[in-house]
Amino acid sequence: MHRSSEPFLSENQIQDAVTRLAGEISERYRNRDNLVLVVVLKGGTVFASDLMRQIPLPLAVEYIRAKSYDGIDFLGDVLLPVLPEQPLRGKSVLVIEDILDTGRTTSAIMKTLSEHDPASLELCVLLDKPSRRVVPVDAQYIGITIEDRFVVGYGLDHDERFRNLPEIYTLEED
Ligand code: 5GP
Ligand code: MG
Repeated sequence: MHRSSEPFLSENQIQDAVTRLAGEISERYRNRDNLVLVVVLKGGTVFASDLMRQIPLPLAVEYIRAKSYDGIDFLGDVLLPVLPEQPLRGKSVLVIEDILDTGRTTSAIMKTLSEHDPASLELCVLLDKPSRRVVPVDAQYIGITIEDRFVVGYGLDHDERFRNLPEIYTLEED
């Protein structure tokens, strides 16, 4: 497998989406206390680091890690080996995720975090592939909606490669 030679989404397209999302989030959370960004490892880190630098509000950053297993169980299992260090009770929690695909991982993350009794719980994704959805998930902030393609770059990997690319590419057969 290799990445497409031309970007699927340019650095400008990505940064425009990031700026728009940061504006929406800054507006929405302006008068609310205790904003905590919960970044989903590892793919969400590049997006989150650009996004948070455009949110001029007091906020805290936590990380969560989710691993899905498609194994024996058809629905798969989602394991959360990294969880936020600080209590989220009463906090305004905003989850930052790279891409929303089937919705399985993200819905498991949202369910786990809701059990921590936050004051509010919202989701921000850079990319959304609605045609792939299996489990319904509500994302309040969506960067760019794309068709069913496997994409890499800007945090998104294939076998841990390509996360460092500033643009997003599609993955192609050799
Ligand atoms: P979901 O649980 O919504 O199916 O999957 C979400 C996770 O699957 C994402 O956080 C990401 O790690 C991975 N994923 C889904 N689609 C893509 C894609 O097109 N490219 C890459 N690199 N990862 C993807
Ligand atoms: Mg991944």
